[in-house]
Amino acid sequence: MDILNLNEWGLDAKAPLYIAGPCSVETPNQLNTTVKDLASRGFKWIRGGVWKPRTRPNSFEGVGEIALPWIQEVKEKYQVQFAIEVANPYHVQKALEYGIDLLWIGARTTVNPFAVQEIADSLKGVDIPVMIKNPVNPDLALWIGALERINQAGIKKLAGIHRGFSNFNDQVYRNSPTWQIPLELKTRYPNLPLLNDPSHICGKRDLLASVAQMAMDLNFDGLIIESHFDPVNAWSDAAQQVTPEVLEKLIQDLQIRSTST
Ligand code: PEP
Ligand code: MN
Repeated sequence: MDILNLNEWGLDAKAPLYIAGPCSVETPNQLNTTVKDLASRGFKWIRGGVWKPRTRPNSFEGVGEIALPWIQEVKEKYQVQFAIEVANPYHVQKALEYGIDLLWIGARTTVNPFAVQEIADSLKGVDIPVMIKNPVNPDLALWIGALERINQAGIKKLAGIHRGFSNFNDQVYRNSPTWQIPLELKTRYPNLPLLNDPSHICGKRDLLASVAQMAMDLNFDGLIIESHFDPVNAWSDAAQQVTPEVLEKLIQDLQIRSTST
């Protein structure tokens, strides 16, 4: 794969890349309050789901494209970059129209080569960073296949996100980390930036710090973590979100191995 490392993205590859923000964009006030707090603590990359792929029907499925102007506003107001999930070419088109800075492909989309290929085709000639979550099932080849499809569309700012793997009865994690899979990916593609998503691995906030530390110990390039100004009342993934204040402390307490030589 012809990919760029984080330095070549124009980022400081020695410092972990942190992407923080709510599972879902809910209201203008929720977005503004959360982003304001995160930005004041130095977070420069914000995440927020606009279209939400839910496992079962009748759950909150995201507010949809009405969120895009709200995002544009907070980007401008707090000078942050914004990442959203895309699952089809229409999402890509809308994200580009509203100046979204980074796209990610969710775990339920990565499993489907038809869907990934359609997204790839819609990205031809576009220069935007794309992060690809591992598929829900522990299938490294499927993850690599999705990365290759997007890369072959010309996207060189490409990264993997390790969000764990679905399981039937893991007593600890919502999605089992099965660390050997992302580590094997890193071994095969040393240049590919790899982030860890402790939120979707843990499913509950108490476990976040230990998984985030493990990711740092294993030399991941960054973290994507869910943060909401009022986590218990979040419209999705309430049990795993933390306030910006708690997140700042969690990150301050991480021991980061220096990669400088
Ligand atoms: C999310 O990031 O909120 C999400 C839906 O994640 P995943 O695709 O990892 O389940
Ligand atoms: Mn979520």
